[in-house]
Amino acid sequence: MTEASHRFRSAIADLVPYEPGKPADELMRERGLSRCIKLASNEGPWGPLPAAAEAIIAATNDLNRYPDGAGVLVREAIADVHGVTPDEVVLGHGADAIINNLSLAMLEPGDEVVFGWPSFPSYFLDARMMGAQPVMVGLDEDHRYNLAAMLDAITDRTRIVYICNPNNPTGTMVTRDELASFLDQVPEHVLTVLDEAYFEYVQRDDYPDGIADFYAQGRRVAVLRTFSKIYGLAGLRIGYAIAHPDIARAINKVRNAFDITAPAQVAARASLAERHLISERARANAEGRETLTNALRELGLRPVESVGNFVCVELDMPGRELYEQLLNHGIIVRPLDPFGMPNAIRVTVGTPEENIEAIAAFRAVLGSLVSP
Ligand code: PMP
Repeated sequence: MTEASHRFRSAIADLVPYEPGKPADELMRERGLSRCIKLASNEGPWGPLPAAAEAIIAATNDLNRYPDGAGVLVREAIADVHGVTPDEVVLGHGADAIINNLSLAMLEPGDEVVFGWPSFPSYFLDARMMGAQPVMVGLDEDHRYNLAAMLDAITDRTRIVYICNPNNPTGTMVTRDELASFLDQVPEHVLTVLDEAYFEYVQRDDYPDGIADFYAQGRRVAVLRTFSKIYGLAGLRIGYAIAHPDIARAINKVRNAFDITAPAQVAARASLAERHLISERARANAEGRETLTNALRELGLRPVESVGNFVCVELDMPGRELYEQLLNHGIIVRPLDPFGMPNAIRVTVGTPEENIEAIAAFRAVLGSLVSP
C-alpha cells in the first residue's frame, strides 16, 4: 500500500490515537490468564444500580427503534436534579463526547485552549484536532492545577479553559475559594469548562459543586458530569454538561443525531432516581483509596494524595516497566506517559478484594525488582 497521509487534514498529522486502558479480555488471552483485575480506566468497580440494570434489560425490547434524539426525558430528569431548565442540559455519549463537540462548535484554527498538565488528554487531542493551540500549564509542586499560572496563560486567542476537578490523573483538587477567585479574573471572551467527571467521589467540604456554586450563580462556566464512574455505566456511554442554552444549542448543532442510545437514556434516568444509593459507593471508595495509598507508600512508592477514585503513583522507574510486570500478575494499571508523567502509573480504586489482590501483586513485583 502506498503512503496516503496527504489525504488527511494536517491538524491530525502528528496526533497519536488515544490509548485506552488495556481491556481485561485482551490481557487474559494474551498471557493465558484465567482471571485479571482492571484498575486502569477509572471506572467504578460496581455495576449499574439495580433500577438501571432493570431499565437496560427492558429497553432491549425496543432496540429496533432509534432512541429519542433530543433525550427529552433524561434531560428533564437531569434538569430536575440540578434545579436548571432542560435547555441548559446537553447530552454526550460520555462526557468525552461533550469535550469533542464543544471543540467542534467553538474552536477555529489558531485559537488557544488552556488547561493544566498532566491532565486529561482529550483537552489536548480535541484542540489539536481542530487546528487550535493547546496551552498546557504545569501543575504546581503539589500536583494541583496552578490557577494563577493559568490566568497568566490566557490571551486574546483563548476560547476555552479546562479545569479538571479533581484532576485526572493526579487526583488533586482546587477549592471553592480558589475557583471563585479564578472566575473573578477570567476575561469575558473565555469559557471555563469545569470537568467534574469524578464529582460524586469527593467528600471534602471545600470541594466546589460547579453547578450549584458557580453555574447557578451566573458564572460563565460549563460543567461536565458523567454516568461512567460512580453510576457504573461506562460501557453504555452517557454524560452531560450543564451550560448556558446558547452553548447547549451550539453543541446540539454539531453532535450526531441519535448519539445517545436508548438503553443509556433509560439507565441514566433510573440511576438518578436511585442516586441515594451512591453515597455508600463513595464511602467504600474512600476506604479503598486509603488502603491502597497507605500500602503503596509502605512499599516505598510515592502515591499522590487523591480525592477521587484513583491514585497516581510516582516511581523511580518508567511507569511502563512496572505496568508490564503487573500485567504478569493479572493486574492492569495505567502507565501515565500519555498523560505527561512517564515515571508514574495510575491505579483505579477497586472493590476491597481487588485492592488487596492488587497490593499483593505490587508487593510481589517490587520484591522481585529490588532483589538481584
Ligand atoms: N473527563 C475526565 C477528567 C475523565 O477522566 C473522563 C474519563 N476518563 C472523562 C472526562 C470522560 O468520561 P466519559 O466519556 O466516560 O463520560
